[in-house]
Amino acid sequence: MPSENAVLIENARIMTTSGEWERGWLRWHGSQIVGMGPGNALDDDDIEVIDASGLTLLPGFVDVHVHGGMGYDAMDADPRGLQTVAQFYARHGVTSFLATTWTDTPTRITKALETIAASKGPQVHGATLIGAHVEGPYLNPQKCGAQNLGLIRRADPEEAMDWLEMGVVRVLSLAPEYEENLWLIQECANRGITVSVAHSAATYDQVLRAVQLGLRHATHTFNAMSELHHRNPGTVGAVLTSPEVRCELIADNIHVHPAMMKLLLSAKGPDGVILITDAIRGTGMPDGEYPVDDRTIIVKNGVARLADGTLAGSTITMEKALANFVKASGRPIAEIWQVSSLNAARAIGIEDRKGSLDVQKDADLVLLDDGMNVQMTVAEGLIVYRR
Ligand SMILES: [Zn+2]
Repeated sequence: MPSENAVLIENARIMTTSGEWERGWLRWHGSQIVGMGPGNALDDDDIEVIDASGLTLLPGFVDVHVHGGMGYDAMDADPRGLQTVAQFYARHGVTSFLATTWTDTPTRITKALETIAASKGPQVHGATLIGAHVEGPYLNPQKCGAQNLGLIRRADPEEAMDWLEMGVVRVLSLAPEYEENLWLIQECANRGITVSVAHSAATYDQVLRAVQLGLRHATHTFNAMSELHHRNPGTVGAVLTSPEVRCELIADNIHVHPAMMKLLLSAKGPDGVILITDAIRGTGMPDGEYPVDDRTIIVKNGVARLADGTLAGSTITMEKALANFVKASGRPIAEIWQVSSLNAARAIGIEDRKGSLDVQKDADLVLLDDGMNVQMTVAEGLIVYRR
């Protein structure tokens, strides 16, 4: 009889921090990786063995920017919703995620964050909920995208400090061009919360000033930010050329052209790009109309838009984003696997436990087939999905 939750994966192609193993093994016990190596594993009768011939083993995906799916949204402040989306994400290889809030009233954002805080941790048959990404309300109305224009505001210390005090916020997205928002960059940086430039019309110089204050992240790079121009490099120019900043990317081929994905990789290198889904309520659901605050998002052919045509998040899943990015970049997965795991883990300071395959790290794993379909997902040692 195998001992409790001791599992060996063998004959897998494995992506490790020290390079690719064409054929190797990985063993975990409880929630932790306890051994791994190239070639053949030592025989051990007391363990469940999974033959992963023809499959590729990667660290489980880490999605630091995702709003919902399966009919739910983080703003619903519904623990069942968080669990349902965690199960849906796990079917798509995600093992850790940040539930992401939108621009809304103080009360509704507070309620959403309270629910995320209370639900934090492993989810039954799902990805682990690490915490929250607060996207808005301290944005630029000119670049609001699908965020609620009427509720965009400047950073109010009384409001924002309550959210930071909850201890659940891991990323905070804001527009750094406003003097009133600058204190919050420093406050977050002091608390180890990652600050991201988002929905911003900041100039190149304004972004550089924010980086000096501690900004380290760019939210859905290229989307809802001042564009790259050769005489006016804007927010895009600043984040592409600031090595301190990691850049989120929605690799759905709708938000960003594949050529710009290639440009992003050239500028940032394999350690500077973070794939996100920005997935919304309608993800994993048929085309149709889905509510967001008092408005409606229309999903048609998988593309999510407001009634006026503005893109409103995506319905992509992480394994598809990775497949798109591999194709767009023209690079082998062995060179860029970290864009779906390790870079995000580093961005939110959990790389000591998550984001890479190493002994003593959490057993957060995804097995992909040749077509980049998820065959199995393991979150903290539990098989949460098996095709
Ligand atoms: Zn956004």
